[in-house]
Amino acid sequence: MSSIPTGTEEKKDEGKVLPGGKKIVNGIVYDADGKPCRTCNDMSALFAMGKKSKKPLPPALPKDCPPDVAQLGRSSWTLLHSITATYPETPSQSLQTETSAFLRTFGKLYPCWVCAEDFQAWMKVNTPRVSSRSEFGMWMCEAHNAVNVKLGKKEFDCNRWDERWRTGWKD
Ligand code: FAD
Repeated sequence: MSSIPTGTEEKKDEGKVLPGGKKIVNGIVYDADGKPCRTCNDMSALFAMGKKSKKPLPPALPKDCPPDVAQLGRSSWTLLHSITATYPETPSQSLQTETSAFLRTFGKLYPCWVCAEDFQAWMKVNTPRVSSRSEFGMWMCEAHNAVNVKLGKKEFDCNRWDERWRTGWKD
């Protein structure tokens, strides 16, 4: 038998073990208890994993199930962009301080911990701009684009964030 690699062998990924026992192996994010983190993974990745195991998962995520990373993300961006859309044009100093504090707390509490860590790191370099609605909306769009780029998605035209999230598309 030849031992020359054909490229079709299953690659063993030792993964990345993180503080607290969390780990990422073969693209699947695991919590400290050793179970896949539901809010950190795309259900399609978990389905693919299920196919290999003896317990296959259902083919689609029912609407009333806990969210996966994509569902959580879409809902969260809707909330975040909607907050920027209803933010005052000239916010008081105290609202600006509260908004920055909210974003720091949001970054810590975001239920996908791998996403949260990256978002916190991004915010360290890209301090939230909350001095006006247009600045805040633009900053949020840039934050979303940073994730889009990380996931290999197309960047959104931030000149149009206001149309997407506040006024509706111009004809
Ligand atoms: P989404 O990216 O959720 O976008 C929803 C809608 O927003 C789009 O249809 C579009 O109309 C609009 N939109 C897109 N880009 C922009 C923009 N730049 N500005 C304004 N509007 C825009 N997922 C991961 O797998 N890994 C991560 O590390 C990760 N980190 C995240 C961090 C945060 C803070 C959040 C809120 C989400 C994160 N997500 C992450 C989820 C991810 O961003 C997407 O929400 C998810 O992949 C679903 O993508 P989607 O293509 O359905 O649309």
